[in-house]
Amino acid sequence: MSSEPTRLGVAGAGTMGAGIAQVAAEAGCDVVLYDVSPEIVARALAQIRAGYDRAVSGGRLTREEADAALARIATTTTLNALGTAQFVIEAAPEDLALKRQLLAELERVCAPDTILASNTSSLSITAIAGGLSRPERVAGMHFFNPVSVRPLVEVVGGAATAPEVADAVMALARRLGKNPMRAADTPGFIVNRIARPFTGEALRIVGEGLATPAEVDRIVRGAGFRIGPFEMIDLVGLDVNFAVHRTIYEQSFGEPRYRPQPLQARLIAAGRLGRKTGQGFYRYEGGRLVAEDAPAPFADVAPTGRRGNILIAGQGPAADDLALALQAMGQTISTYSTEESAPLLDAGIPRARRLRDVLLTTTVAIEATLGPRDLKRAYWYELDESLPPQIPILALSLGHGTTELGSWSARPERVVGFGFVGPFADTPFVELSRGLRTGDAALRRVVGFVRGLGKDLAVVGDAPGQILPRLLSCLINEVAFALDEGLAAPDDIDAALRLGLDFPLGPIAWSARLGLDRVVTTLDGLRDYYGEERYRVAPRLRRSLLAGYERLS
Ligand code: NAD
Repeated sequence: MSSEPTRLGVAGAGTMGAGIAQVAAEAGCDVVLYDVSPEIVARALAQIRAGYDRAVSGGRLTREEADAALARIATTTTLNALGTAQFVIEAAPEDLALKRQLLAELERVCAPDTILASNTSSLSITAIAGGLSRPERVAGMHFFNPVSVRPLVEVVGGAATAPEVADAVMALARRLGKNPMRAADTPGFIVNRIARPFTGEALRIVGEGLATPAEVDRIVRGAGFRIGPFEMIDLVGLDVNFAVHRTIYEQSFGEPRYRPQPLQARLIAAGRLGRKTGQGFYRYEGGRLVAEDAPAPFADVAPTGRRGNILIAGQGPAADDLALALQAMGQTISTYSTEESAPLLDAGIPRARRLRDVLLTTTVAIEATLGPRDLKRAYWYELDESLPPQIPILALSLGHGTTELGSWSARPERVVGFGFVGPFADTPFVELSRGLRTGDAALRRVVGFVRGLGKDLAVVGDAPGQILPRLLSCLINEVAFALDEGLAAPDDIDAALRLGLDFPLGPIAWSARLGLDRVVTTLDGLRDYYGEERYRVAPRLRRSLLAGYERLS
C-alpha cells in the first residue's frame, strides 16, 4: 500500500461503525463516516471524541495525536460523500436485505475498484454480494467489540470474492493495527460460531431459572473471564446478539444447539437492547453499569474450621483429584472405594476397607464418581446406610441432577450436588446445587465446609453440570463439531477466541483444564436429563476421550 493516507468510508455509525472510524483515523486514514441522520452521526462523533480523550488520559495518545485523528474524520448523511473512498466498511444493522440494498447503492456511488467490506457478524458474504454487479469487490471484515481494544479481525471471502480483494482487506486490517485471520464464509465465521454456547447456553440457563444473569456472570468471572455472558450481550447489544443466534440457527436449518432463547426476544420487544439503550440485562446510567450486586448465598454461614474427617467415596480421576487436593490442603481425609487407585497409593492416602471404621469422625461425605450411573450408584447404598443421618453428602453432579442423586438416598434432604472446573486445588469457585428435596441444614453445613476450604461458592438450581462446567462443555463440544467440519485449525480457534473475545483460555485449552471425561459426562448427563439433541456429544470429542487424550484434538 502506498504511503498516501487511505481514504476510508464507514457506512453505519453505531457501536461498531464509530469504533472502526476511531481506530482507522488513529491509524492515519482519512475517514468519512455515514449514517442516516445527523443526530446519529453527532452521537458517534461524541463517542469517538470520548474514546480519544480516554486514550489521552491513559497515556496511549498525546493530545496532538488525538486532535489530528479527530480532524481526519468527516461525517455525512449523504451516501455520495463516500464516492471517493478506496474502501468502504459497512457497519449497518445485521439484516441481509438492508445490507444488500446498502451495498447496491454504494456500488453506484463508488468507483469500480472500491472495495466494499462488510462487518457482518453472521450473514453470508456470498449472500450479501449476490445480486451486485461487482461481487468480486466484496469481502467480510469482521471486527470485535470494543473495536479499539480487541485485536482480532476475521477476513472472509465469499464465493465470488477476488483473491486480491481479500488480500487488500488483510492488509487494511494490519494497517489499522489489527491481527487479521482468514475465515471461511460459514455461519458465524470462527468466533461467533464457536462462542454461540457462551451466550446461548447462558441464556438457556437463566431462561430456565437455574441462576440469575448476575450469578452466571459472577461464576464465569470467577474462572478468569473478563466479563460474563450477560455483560457481553449487553455490550454487543441484545438485538445484534439475537440476530446472530437467529442467522446461525436458520442457516443451519434448525440445528438444536443454536436455537435462540425466547427470553432474549422478550427483552428486545421491551426495547431493552443493552448498553446502547441504557438497559439490557443490567441497567446503565451515563454509559456506566448501575451495580446491583447479588447478595452472597448464605452470607450468615461462617467457614467451618478443620474438624473431623472428610470421607471421599467413589472411584476415578475426579475422586482422586479431590482426595489429593484436600490432603494437600491439610485436611484429614479418608477414601472409600471398591477399586485400588495408583495415584492415591503413591500419595500414601489411607483407604478405608470398611466404611464403618471411619464414619464416627466423619463430618462431610463427598461422593465423586463421574459415571456411568450404575458405577456411581453402587457407592450410594452402603454410604447412605452407614453414614450418621446428620452428615451431609456432597455429590459430584456433572452427569446427574441433584434431585436424581437424592432419589438414590433414603435421606434426600442431606444430598447437595456440586461441580467445579478442576483441578480442585486450583479452582477458586465451587458451585453447589440444590435438589427438590435438599434441606437447608445440609446446605448450610456444606456452605461452611466449602468456605472453610477457602473457596468462593454459588448455590444454583438443579441440572447436570451446574453453570460453568455446562457452559464450557457446550463450548468445547461446539469446537469438536467445527473441527470435524474443517472450520479452522485447533490453535487458530483458541487464538481467535482469546483475541476476539478476550477469553482467558481458548476452548481447547479449557478442555485440558476441565478434563475430557468431565466434559463428556456433563454433556451425556444434560442429554439424558433434557432428552435433547442439543447436548449430543460430537463424535470427535468422544473419540478424543476414548483415545485417552488429555485435550480435544
Ligand atoms: P448498531 O445498532 O449500534 O448500529 C447500526 C447503525 O446503522 C445505526 O447507527 C443505524 O442508524 C445505522 N443504519 C441503519 N440503516 C442504515 C443504512 N441503510 N445505511 C447505513 N447505516 C444504517 O449496530 P452495531 O452493533 O454497530 O452493528 C453493526 C454491524 O456490525 C452489524 O452487522 C453487526 O452484526 C456487526 N457487529 C456488531 C458487533 C457488536 O458487538 N455490536 C460486533 C461485530 C460485528
